[in-house]
Amino acid sequence: MRVGVPRESAGETRVALVPDLVGKLTSLGYDVAVQSGAGEAAGHADKEYEEAGALVVDDPTEGAQVLVSILPPPADLVSTLKPETVTISFLWPIRSPELVAELRDCGVTAFAFELVPRISRAQSMDALSSQALVSGYRCAIVAAGLLRRFFPLNMTAAGTVPPAEITVLGAGVAGLQTIATCRRLGAVVRAYDVRAAAAEEIRSVGAQAIELDLETLEGAGGYAREMTEGRAARQRELLAPYIAASDALITTAAVPGRAAPLLVTADMVEAMRPGSVVVDLAAESGGNVEGSRPGQVVRIGNAQVWGGQNVPAQMPGPASKLYAQNVVNLVTLMTADEAFAPDFEDEIVRGCCVTRQGEILHEPTRALLEGASQP
Ligand code: NAD
Repeated sequence: MRVGVPRESAGETRVALVPDLVGKLTSLGYDVAVQSGAGEAAGHADKEYEEAGALVVDDPTEGAQVLVSILPPPADLVSTLKPETVTISFLWPIRSPELVAELRDCGVTAFAFELVPRISRAQSMDALSSQALVSGYRCAIVAAGLLRRFFPLNMTAAGTVPPAEITVLGAGVAGLQTIATCRRLGAVVRAYDVRAAAAEEIRSVGAQAIELDLETLEGAGGYAREMTEGRAARQRELLAPYIAASDALITTAAVPGRAAPLLVTADMVEAMRPGSVVVDLAAESGGNVEGSRPGQVVRIGNAQVWGGQNVPAQMPGPASKLYAQNVVNLVTLMTADEAFAPDFEDEIVRGCCVTRQGEILHEPTRALLEGASQP
């Protein structure tokens, strides 16, 4: 059985499937066909894939039963796939229902990484977490780079320079990695998250947990719930003094399936001191900070506001390595006796399957496309 790896648009992603992946897939019984140039954006030449045992080809779909990529397969590629071809990638089905309809109509079995259930057994396949780890680290480094002052305390013969004060909002996978990185650089960090479990997690990575007199917001699967507008306004009011007193603010808050919550208004940023820095990881999905722009640094009041855009691609080495291992682990789960044989009774397999045998299995997308009344 063949696994195909297409070259992806370098403008959109610099994360690639690393050559390491090849040996792991061949040892599972697959042969691997990599499109020429597939690893270029992440710094891997065709030769490295060949040396790892892959075929380097012009058309990675030819003869491939399984196609693995990072971005969703483009619709014009899907229309050329044979029925029962399998695709494994990020897919974001609700954002691109037309693509899901195409996958369904072409009889493709499509798996989406972001739908892998977040249970302990699936941790090694959790590409959302692996990419959030990279993003969280990057946010801390961006803040340190933009801030024109030390992160750590410096006591010198010429005097003492106090450490930078950082506030982090959202302490999930990315936020905790941001906190840990800022702490390693010596900054004083305070952080807030709406989930009850977060305060202990924040303290465990060396920051002070900001405790607000507000109810916590636990949703299903360990995620946060959306705030009401009243609570959001009160949260902003209570957080304003912490933000005004910070040298850098880093926001990483998200609610699955929703636009990012607006946590910080432009007025709150304007109250920050001259030279302050704001890093909004959520800029691409609506923004935690009013006025942030994905892929840009804008000035709001006294602050430089950096908006994240495809942040894992800014560190293609580790992002690619971790993603490739997530792919290998998911494919391993779906392999039996050297053949691709996913067990649809398995909660992980079923949970991340979006289309199969001409049907849409991801219920919200199915309801969107086919109407809620269909089976
Ligand atoms: P995420 O990217 O959806 O959200 C990031 C963070 O933003 C979350 O911690 C959330 O609580 C927070 N947030 C949302 N609204 C907020 C608001 N109004 N104000 C402040 N913070 C807000 O989440 P994630 O980082 O992918 O994961 C969150 C949690 O899920 C983890 O901390 C963990 O408990 C759980 N998780 C479990 C597994 C597993 O068991 N395999 C894997 C990954 C994550």
